[in-house]
Amino acid sequence: MDLHELSAWQVAQGLAAKRFSALEVTRACLDRIRSLDGRVKACLTVLEDRALEKAREVDGALARGEDPGLLSGVPVLVKDNLCTVGTRTTCGSRILGDWEPPYDATAVRLLKEAGAILLGKTNMDEFAMGSSTEHSAFGPTRNPWDPERVPGGSSGGSAAGVAAGFAPLALGSDTGGSIRQPAAFCGIQGLKPTYGLVSRYGLVAYASSLDQVGPLAREVGDLALGMDVIARPDPLDATSCREERPRFLDAVHTDNLKGLRIGVLGGFDDSAVEEPIRKALVLAARYCQDAGALLSEVRLPLSLEYGLASYYILAPAEASSNLARFDGVRYGSAEEASCLEDLYLRTRGAGFGPEVKRRILTGTYALSSGYYDAFYLKAQKARRAIVREFRQVFGQVDAILTPTAPTRAFRQGEHLDDPIRMYLGDAFTLPANLAGLPALSLCAGIAEGLPTAVQILGPWRKDQRLVRIGVMLERAFGAPSVAPLGKEESR
Ligand code: GLN
Repeated sequence: MDLHELSAWQVAQGLAAKRFSALEVTRACLDRIRSLDGRVKACLTVLEDRALEKAREVDGALARGEDPGLLSGVPVLVKDNLCTVGTRTTCGSRILGDWEPPYDATAVRLLKEAGAILLGKTNMDEFAMGSSTEHSAFGPTRNPWDPERVPGGSSGGSAAGVAAGFAPLALGSDTGGSIRQPAAFCGIQGLKPTYGLVSRYGLVAYASSLDQVGPLAREVGDLALGMDVIARPDPLDATSCREERPRFLDAVHTDNLKGLRIGVLGGFDDSAVEEPIRKALVLAARYCQDAGALLSEVRLPLSLEYGLASYYILAPAEASSNLARFDGVRYGSAEEASCLEDLYLRTRGAGFGPEVKRRILTGTYALSSGYYDAFYLKAQKARRAIVREFRQVFGQVDAILTPTAPTRAFRQGEHLDDPIRMYLGDAFTLPANLAGLPALSLCAGIAEGLPTAVQILGPWRKDQRLVRIGVMLERAFGAPSVAPLGKEESR
């Protein structure tokens, strides 16, 4: 196995056993980025010198016998909407120019303190609005399994980077599916934690009541490792859960699902769900049963009927307010202007891409007086109903299996002229955000060259349970491997 193929776990263990150095692992990943990212375009910024310097520091600390930290020497990638001190943070937008944050996001700081090596910042849909990473101002990222296809979004750069073997672990953010859907499209694992479990401090806000930071990796065990580092109470985020978190790594050491009641989503029109994904769901259910779980069918009629419509009111409404801060005065680029209003118009006109403008317009409209009750308030009521629906269903089952997305990775450009079609792909992921629940996307193998996936949804703060189920399913389906990119020549 080449060093770039190792999981975060294997890196940590190999370093402790002195089988290789942090410098060697870091170099292997940087080489991989250098030779293949021209084709994948997962990274917007690569921090080569700083990464090598940090790797040397870690090796020095290990040689002195110091406590290495949970992620010591593990190369990581971070989505470009998480602030990194002194390193350009673009959010996939032009409007921020070369803005360098004066501080690290809490999740980034915790990664660094645990000894992780930050290799770079990853491409994303502008301000995390999208499902394909085609809405990046810096051009699209490509799917490492098939460069003609999208990697999903909005954390497409993080997912593609992990799938391509640029790093074993990455951070993304998930407002309506942006960790899980790209993980599904790129054949890796991704966790959207319970709202409040990971601090949002330093995450550039899209829709604050829905945003969550979380890990992407090729192994569920690495998601757990990442969570044990980043899931901490944070006084800098008022919505951060105050209680201590149970250890995620404990959930990795499991060998059965005895006593767990698992509901399989049913009772909906699945004609839009591709055949290989339907099959993966059936298989996942069978594997759970083989591991000792009790299966039943569950229905989520309100979530499926109203989730999409309410999300696409609430998220743009919050975004229209959050994005008001990009005015050409406080951050990044500004256009030449004759007066203040002209400055706003020109800066925002030139700085935001079409999808962001569409969201700002929708959101502002939904919040405007006269329409507030008809749109925003109604969407909030639908959200409450969805929360109640989950509460009731989780009285009967301990977890729910659903598809992550109805399709596998689609072709570049396929949905670009049809925003509604793009939005429809989020139907299974966004209910978890509306209800603040944890959800894990798990790779269910490769069908006709493209990754398939299922999603496991859990009750509030039962993230560890998802890890436990994920570990068992990963054993049954087989852990994802690095995409066969760069091997074409030798085949
Ligand atoms: N695709 C959804 C959207 O465009 C979700 C994005 C996200 O989770 N950041 O809003």
